[in-house]
Amino acid sequence: VLILAIESSCDETAAAVVKNGREVLSNVISSQIALHTLYGGVVPEIASRKHIEKINQVIQEALDEAHVTLDDIDAIGVTYGPGLVGALLVGVAAAKAISYAKKIPLVGVHHIEGHISANYIENKDLEPPFLCLVVSGGHTHLVKVADYGKYEILGRTRDDAAGEAFDKVARAIGLGYPGGPKIEKAAREGDPMAIPFPKAKVNDNPYDFSFSGVKSAVLNYINGCKMKNIEIVPEDIAASFQKAVTDVLIAHAMHAAEEFKIDKLAIAGGVASNSVLREGMRAACEKRGISFYHPSPIFCTDNAAMIGAAAYYEYLAGTRHGWDLNAVPNLKLGER
Ligand code: ATP
Ligand code: MG
Ligand code: FE
Repeated sequence: VLILAIESSCDETAAAVVKNGREVLSNVISSQIALHTLYGGVVPEIASRKHIEKINQVIQEALDEAHVTLDDIDAIGVTYGPGLVGALLVGVAAAKAISYAKKIPLVGVHHIEGHISANYIENKDLEPPFLCLVVSGGHTHLVKVADYGKYEILGRTRDDAAGEAFDKVARAIGLGYPGGPKIEKAAREGDPMAIPFPKAKVNDNPYDFSFSGVKSAVLNYINGCKMKNIEIVPEDIAASFQKAVTDVLIAHAMHAAEEFKIDKLAIAGGVASNSVLREGMRAACEKRGISFYHPSPIFCTDNAAMIGAAAYYEYLAGTRHGWDLNAVPNLKLGER
């Protein structure tokens, strides 16, 4: 089964051709990061316009690189939520147009199901059930993947997403956008034990997260230094903040794996490309005999190959969408 996948939920215009859910024949990503850096974050209206400019070219490139034409494609998978409505609409409209013109079945995909499914691409042996920690720019979910397309959310963030916290702290210490990779880089030169930032606790659900507290602690620390004329060392702040966040992510994931007796753990989303999180999670899993899975960085941040992987299993399960498929900015995981 050959799937043409399209992703445009945020600031990446992406298309891919994926064979049987796990073999990526092409993966084209046109990133708008440089454009939005000017404004310190994603500007929705600019994102939509840029998607419109790029989408047809990106789709054609994906087909060309895979050495296929639309006549070879069995289904079109497209992200229809969650995300920026104007951005999502561009991908959905393009997918519907091709699907209608060429009579190819249309499969709408949940963006986070895509992030989770990115793990199938390079881990050919990974099959549900497994636990997945989704850490992206807008989501922090601890998910039990009971079966393909079957998700149980065990915990979620009460406030900021993990990636969002990286982005906000990066801005506060003057590293700029996007924050995650810049914090990781600065942290390599810093001391993770320099500043004891609080580990966020949520009282009633051991699998929930909260990152606004540590973000505020960083801001307070910076203000305190300025008032007391203490030198600010961005590298130490970056390393200490990164440790506070990744320690909590690892602890909650391990707690859930033990409690639910799940011996496979995957991570997904942009923050899953963070090497401190990866290495910490790998060590924690090894200690407990848990198999650890993660996508390569290129499949962690937004891409269409992951949408193709998710679309394949939805396609097998019989999911089909009609011409009335619309963008759903707040689509819930597991909804159709
Ligand atoms: P969502 O998937 O929730 O809709 P999104 O698509 O914007 O949000 P992703 O593309 O999955 O998010 O990931 C982007 C986020 O990942 C950003 O917040 C970015 O700072 C973060 N990120 C990327 N690389 C790293 C890294 N090496 N370390 C930490 N965070 C990172
Ligand atoms: Mg992005
Ligand atoms: Fe994403």
